Amino acid sequence: MTTPGPSRVTVVGASAAGLSVVEGLRREGYAGSITWIGEETHLPYDRPPLSKQLLSGAWETDRLRLRDPGDFEALGVDLRLGARAVALDARKRTIALADGGLAGYDTLVVATGTRARRLPGTDGVAGVHVLRTVEDALALREALAGKPHLVVVGGGFVGAEAAAVARGLGCEVTLVTDTAQPMGGALGDELGSMLGNVHTEHGVHIETGAMAGQVLTDGGRACGVRLADGRTIAADAVLVGIGAQPNVEWLAGSGVPVGNGVECDATLYAGFGVWAAGDVASWLDPRTQEPVRIEHRTNAAEQGLAVARNILAGPECARPFDSVPYIWSDQYDLKIQIYGRSRGADEVRIVEGSLTDRRLIALYATRGRVCAAVGVNMARALRGYRAQVAEAAVVEVESAA
Ligand SMILES: Cc1cc2nc3c(=O)[nH]c(=O)nc-3n(C[C@H](O)[C@H](O)[C@H](O)COP(=O)(O)OP(=O)(O)OC[C@H]3O[C@@H](n4cnc5c(N)ncnc54)[C@H](O)[C@@H]3O)c2cc1C
Repeated sequence: MTTPGPSRVTVVGASAAGLSVVEGLRREGYAGSITWIGEETHLPYDRPPLSKQLLSGAWETDRLRLRDPGDFEALGVDLRLGARAVALDARKRTIALADGGLAGYDTLVVATGTRARRLPGTDGVAGVHVLRTVEDALALREALAGKPHLVVVGGGFVGAEAAAVARGLGCEVTLVTDTAQPMGGALGDELGSMLGNVHTEHGVHIETGAMAGQVLTDGGRACGVRLADGRTIAADAVLVGIGAQPNVEWLAGSGVPVGNGVECDATLYAGFGVWAAGDVASWLDPRTQEPVRIEHRTNAAEQGLAVARNILAGPECARPFDSVPYIWSDQYDLKIQIYGRSRGADEVRIVEGSLTDRRLIALYATRGRVCAAVGVNMARALRGYRAQVAEAAVVEVESAA
């Protein structure tokens, strides 16, 4: 019996995207050898709860697991945890590991995700946190138990969620964001302003339009944040939530194209027998013909499956990856959901509900075409707008200004 696909697939990155590749290959009938390499020592776990249920203490770490241990065994893969890929030789098709070992492949999938961006000079400074791994979340949770004054630098998804949780735990919280509103980049002014009001009502002090310049220390511990305009904010703990950067350094010099992620064609193929999936993949969006990289949980799972199918089809028959991005955020009693790409939209219109009720659906448009639908506490109704995003429907919208 012949099995489709290459004889040996290696996946680097043991998280959501990597899991989706491995499961997708097996589900599609691939019976060949799979080596799965991951730097973290844990079985693959889910990151969205890190800034929500794990941070608040509602969940413990065992609930983060993406699958039960037995399910990983059933996949029949050579899973190497605690193994970091440090270099790639694309000619010999080998991966060098930090422990000095080598792993070979016929086909490689890069699913190494991203890591938290840090403020310069804060590495190893006590009291300064980032939020990317389970260890990060547990360390922050422990710090929050002491009810510190927490300064959150960054008003994106992670910063806003952590601020909400910290207030729920009774901490004093200051949120510093360079946008005009928390999550202003993704939500725009109107919805961002509503979200800002919700945070303020819950007692978060918000500094908008403010750049954090430097973390101040006293005896090696964070004691405040200096803003670019010279003002300082006292702090017992600082969470830096200023975005993430793709883990591509280990590919340097290999010939695999890297820039803002692994640069792939529309099918997620980077050449040299290398594919990429998840947060690390920058691919040519078949809709816009522009490179795009998405840091969303659902995207990681969808791309992983798409890569598995494309590997089995082969680069010549591979299909472009095309989907409607989906992301959600939980803050206080708000569930915010976004289909599509709202960032940079030039117009927005609330089509159901209202800002006052804090239950609404808004359509975002670029050059008169729907690019995103955003829902606040209207999950079921929002699904009905997904098709308009997928079709980039023409919409008559009013100016957001
Ligand atoms: C706190 C937080 C909250 C989030 N909340 C949401 C949310 O509400 N909704 C949503 O849609 N998305 C959310 N996300 C984003 C979502 O978690 C990511 O999109 C998803 O984890 C991406 O999966 P991935 O497998 O591509 O990458 P990652 O999850 O980053 O996994 C990459 C893996 O590769 C490993 N790795 C890196 N380099 C190497 C190497 N050289 N060798 C071996 N292994 C390596 C890493 O250690 C990691 O285990 C959140 C993320 C965070 C951090």
